[in-house]
Amino acid sequence: MEFKQFLEAVPPGKDEAVDGVWVEIRDRHGPMPVLNRVRPAFYCVTCQGERVHSLEDSSCVQPTYADMSVTTAVFVCSNCQVHRKVIPFLGPKYATKEPGVKLRKVGEYPPHGGETPSRVLTLLRPHHDLFTKGRRAENQGMGIGAFAYYRQVVEKSKDRLIDEIARVAHKLGADSSVLATFAQARAERQFVKAVGFIKDAIPPSLFIGSQNPLLLLHDALSRDIHSGTDESTLEVASAIRTVLVGLSARMGAALDDEAEMEAAVKSLLARQKDAR
Ligand SMILES: [Zn+2]
Repeated sequence: MEFKQFLEAVPPGKDEAVDGVWVEIRDRHGPMPVLNRVRPAFYCVTCQGERVHSLEDSSCVQPTYADMSVTTAVFVCSNCQVHRKVIPFLGPKYATKEPGVKLRKVGEYPPHGGETPSRVLTLLRPHHDLFTKGRRAENQGMGIGAFAYYRQVVEKSKDRLIDEIARVAHKLGADSSVLATFAQARAERQFVKAVGFIKDAIPPSLFIGSQNPLLLLHDALSRDIHSGTDESTLEVASAIRTVLVGLSARMGAALDDEAEMEAAVKSLLARQKDAR
């Protein structure tokens, strides 16, 4: 894995073999390894979107008797020059140009995966606190904890998730037989079973990268985590969060589009009336 990808995609608490972490520069004392000035993209709170960030500062601590180092890298948004991302990570004791060095983030601020959009919290209300706790567990590399929180929030928000998807389907003109399947799903107690009823009723505009978000959630939540490690479960937990965030964004956009369309139609009709 390249250093840029490690910074962008790997959550704290996960070991990765990383290439190109340090590069050699020459100063008057000879060759010296420095942190590779890659330009990762992170979510910028100020610019409200993914932006390229550049390395602003870094420092390294090498405990005398330990066989490792802690590097803290600070990145600043190249667009606004205001937003900063701080990533401390463990690595080998001495900087090296060798490929495949073992790195592990010990944290990330603001949290890994970007800020939590208010839309997803609104969608999961009143259980959104479980989602926030899941984020906290995820950011500390506690995959099993994060998974448990996310599973609970999905189970507890089942009715609301179904109602909101039904609302989008209704707005987009789904017929009554399709809408009836949402009522069937609502009567089912478990989320995973409820998905069976509505997997084909979900509007394609809510798909995430051509994938049905309900099936993605279904697969992730059906995983047997009893034998899983924190590391392996962390990936599943991150996937659940990504789908919930993506789904809430698409639902919001679908409803906004519809509201905009309605307003446009209304104003057109009003103008026609005036013209008459
Ligand atoms: Zn910015």
